[in-house]
Amino acid sequence: MTSSTPPATGPVIGPLTAALLSALPAGAVITDPVRLRTYECDGLTYHRATPAVAVLPETAEQVALVVRLCNEAGVPFVARGSGTGLSGGALPREDGVLIVTSRMRRVLEIDLADRRAVVEPGVTNLAITEAVREQGRYYAPDPSSQQVCSIGGNVAENSGGAHCLKYGFTVNHVEACEIVTPDGDLVTLDRMDPGYDLLGAFVGSEGTLGIATKITVRLSRAPEAVTTVLAAFENIEQGGRAVSAIIGAGIVPAAIEMMDALSIAAAEAAVACAYPAGAGAVLIVELDGPAAEVERQFERLREICSGAFELRVAAGPAERAAIWKGRKSAFAAVGRISPAYIVQDGVVPRTSLPRVLAAIDRLSAEHDIRVANVFHAGDGNLHPLVLFDDAEPGAGERAEVVSGAILDLCIEHGGSITGEHGVGVDKARYMPKMFSAADLDTMQLVRCAFDPRGLSNPGKVFPTPRLCGEVPGVRRGVHPLVESGRAEQF
Ligand SMILES: Cc1cc2nc3c(=O)[nH]c(=O)nc-3n(C[C@H](O)[C@H](O)[C@H](O)COP(=O)(O)OP(=O)(O)OC[C@H]3O[C@@H](n4cnc5c(N)ncnc54)[C@H](O)[C@@H]3O)c2cc1C
Repeated sequence: MTSSTPPATGPVIGPLTAALLSALPAGAVITDPVRLRTYECDGLTYHRATPAVAVLPETAEQVALVVRLCNEAGVPFVARGSGTGLSGGALPREDGVLIVTSRMRRVLEIDLADRRAVVEPGVTNLAITEAVREQGRYYAPDPSSQQVCSIGGNVAENSGGAHCLKYGFTVNHVEACEIVTPDGDLVTLDRMDPGYDLLGAFVGSEGTLGIATKITVRLSRAPEAVTTVLAAFENIEQGGRAVSAIIGAGIVPAAIEMMDALSIAAAEAAVACAYPAGAGAVLIVELDGPAAEVERQFERLREICSGAFELRVAAGPAERAAIWKGRKSAFAAVGRISPAYIVQDGVVPRTSLPRVLAAIDRLSAEHDIRVANVFHAGDGNLHPLVLFDDAEPGAGERAEVVSGAILDLCIEHGGSITGEHGVGVDKARYMPKMFSAADLDTMQLVRCAFDPRGLSNPGKVFPTPRLCGEVPGVRRGVHPLVESGRAEQF
């Protein structure tokens, strides 16, 4: 806080702010309205709110203290890592405290024998790999945002990435988490604990069950060989058939990513990735493992991709990075070809990909809204980028319609409304489309067991900010959301 800036005022937040200022070190409490605007949104910029106060703790004990003070005052709090989330999960509360972990960036322990690293929540995903790369180890889940996103945010979102097809999501790589519970206790959830898998419940809970303050992750051994291939096809159907054939042949590549013509054009404009000219779709396939096995799989892959008009094989790490460059920058690159866009995130069974992509094409034509497809094809995780011009009247609304219709398609095909970006504030309204009222009530029971007062990131994930006083149980009759016309149910 600058000395000229008065703390936030109000009968509740004023005294809480004063308590935070006296309990935390100088510079750890931000009340300046201009500085607070830094935190008004995450990567999903059309949801914005300025927090009443933001705090930047340096230790788990300070996080616990802040949560306890919030609890005593009955004030909601929201955790924030790097703010790269794409579902508005770290959207602050105007009446609440934002707890930012960016000063908690220490790698506390590396234990190569047990293949574990213990890190603070603000450590970036890539920094974990950088800390052990020379020892031939790495941290496997690799969101495209890995250079900046925090491991705490990854745990909260159960983040994925290109290599999760073979190696699994964050949940498969977290061994233990020290958390501050919503009433301010410091406890550790460990994979080895007998009884219910509370660690499993915490991972992916989007900050609604408490705040992770120390994370023990599993380290993977770098594979003996890696072969990265870029296959260019005339159209997306051919690319889709190749994906099915690869998996059908029993090959589990480390990654299979697909980009359509529009996303290739965007990547080209942004980072000059020199993907083959005229491609209607490119596949990036990465094989890794023992050298002999990779070689055998590559020969099979070459046969399967015989319909590709160009097959490029990376000769070394530099060429491998060049192939990944276009894919890794695709989301940001789209900003070059469209003034505004929505990054959608849904999943369908892999076998439905061709039908769903064709349906997205029809939606795009029907609403005159361009959709660029760039996705984790191997696990059916779609990332349609819905492009629009926000200066054109009605275009934003049309893009929202297309974006919502894509999620409907995912549900209709037996998929999900989110593959890896979470529900946050953005998709809470779609939850009743996937889950019955009884399902949602059951989830609330879990939430209430951790957070009976509903202070930890309220308003996220669930379609209504239900209180724990409203005892969840078997619902009879129509869910209030459905009754009010604000949700549909299949
Ligand atoms: C260009 C780009 C590419 C991306 N690519 C991918 C991708 O390939 N795969 C993927 O899965 N995601 C991807 N994302 C989404 C995003 O990076 C991930 O969701 C990431 O895990 C968010 O981390 P963060 O530190 O930025 O979290 P934030 O955005 O700060 O927070 C996200 C959620 O986590 C909660 N949270 C944060 N820290 C903690 C904590 N310590 N304890 C409890 N809760 C906490 C917040 O309350 C919020 O609900 C991408 C985003 C961008 C902008």
